[in-house]
Amino acid sequence: MLRNNISTTAPKTGDVQRGFRVGAALPISVGSSEKGFTMGETRHTRVLIIGSGPAGYTAAVYASRAMLEPILVQGLQPGGQLTITTEVENWPGDSHVQGPDLMVRMEEHAKAMGAEVISDYIASLDLSARPFVAQADSGMTYTADAVILATGAQAKWLGLPSEEKFKGFGVSACATCDGFFYRGKQVVVAGGGNTAVEEALFLTNFATKVTLVHRRDSLRAEKIMQERLFKHPKIEVIWDSEVVEVLGTEGPLGVTGVRLRNLKTEAAVDVPCDGFFVAIGHAPASELVKEQLEMHNGGYVKVEAGSTRTSIPGVFAAGDLTDHVYRQAVTSAGMGCMAALDAEKFLSGH
Ligand code: FAD
Ligand code: NAP
Repeated sequence: MLRNNISTTAPKTGDVQRGFRVGAALPISVGSSEKGFTMGETRHTRVLIIGSGPAGYTAAVYASRAMLEPILVQGLQPGGQLTITTEVENWPGDSHVQGPDLMVRMEEHAKAMGAEVISDYIASLDLSARPFVAQADSGMTYTADAVILATGAQAKWLGLPSEEKFKGFGVSACATCDGFFYRGKQVVVAGGGNTAVEEALFLTNFATKVTLVHRRDSLRAEKIMQERLFKHPKIEVIWDSEVVEVLGTEGPLGVTGVRLRNLKTEAAVDVPCDGFFVAIGHAPASELVKEQLEMHNGGYVKVEAGSTRTSIPGVFAAGDLTDHVYRQAVTSAGMGCMAALDAEKFLSGH
């Protein structure tokens, strides 16, 4: 994200990105659907799907085919996390597909089956009684006999004051969105998972040098990704280290480097760079329901084993919101399917 350009860093609740298609950076009209309706109105649906990642769109396909006429609210990041990546190589049936293209296809598929897809953001959700009530940013109120939560996950940050200060001025959580701004420059990436390795490799398309900083001495990224990383001539890895401060200038605000601390020796070292990418994972977007549903593993919505049923009958959860283990597009899509089938079964008995 570079401020004063369209902001593309993975959004947080309440971020200023409402009305923009994150990643693709296309303006969208909040509260709009192709079927058209009046702002401030209350709409009832049998199934309200919150979220437009692989879980949400798959749930919409299945719920539509069950004639439940679902409404899907897309949120601030239409298409979800895959819109901030490039190549996806593990979606079955596509050995290479661009994440944003895949998500456009999923949206089209959901609409073709009859789902109503709405550009809006659910600001609050009341699950205390049925029908459940969702208030949207646009002023719309949705009431629903069943709710499928598919709000996924959002980028995690290190939590440093200097990181916050330079967000949008050289600090980013999305290489796909912001890599272009570092043509001919040096960047540092923090993290050791698939996202960090993918971001580092992607940034070599622009930067002259990419330094990956990881807090341990081995990566958790897939082996095939590690191999690509280790043999890339532009990439250096610094092990056992954490970023303790982002260094930069005041006027104009800009990053000039990061200060590292070696966790084994305590030695400090400054690494010069123009951009710093934080790629340390994602946290579940469970804010809407955290006081209402049972959670586990630090904020993931808990579901009954082998199902998508949450602690409230009629409320189902799918995808990264509930899955602290697999967190893949295909597993999220699978859970979206399960959620729609679970919702159909629930509604047939109520
Ligand atoms: P998400 O994709 O996170 O979507 C969540 C949706 O919820 C968004 O549309 C958001 O707008 C919406 N939302 C949130 N809050 C609200 C609200 N209050 N109101 C309305 N809507 C809301 N997985 C793979 O299998 N292969 C890959 O190659 C791969 N690459 C990745 C690369 C990157 C950089 C990242 C970050 C992840 C990658 N993943 C990959 C993981 C994959 O993207 C996720 O597992 C998957 O997108 C999760 O899908 P989801 O539907 O659960 O949620
Ligand atoms: P992740 O797998 O949770 O990895 C996060 C990384 O950041 C870990 O290496 C972790 O270190 C490090 N980290 C966490 N907190 C930190 C902190 N405060 N300071 C420094 N480092 C910190 O997250 P991810 O890489 O975003 O991947 C999330 C999910 O999406 C995974 O399931 C992944 O497989 C999937 N994904 C898949 C693909 C693909 O298939 N191509 C691409 C991207 C993501 P430790 O290792 O020490 O814990």
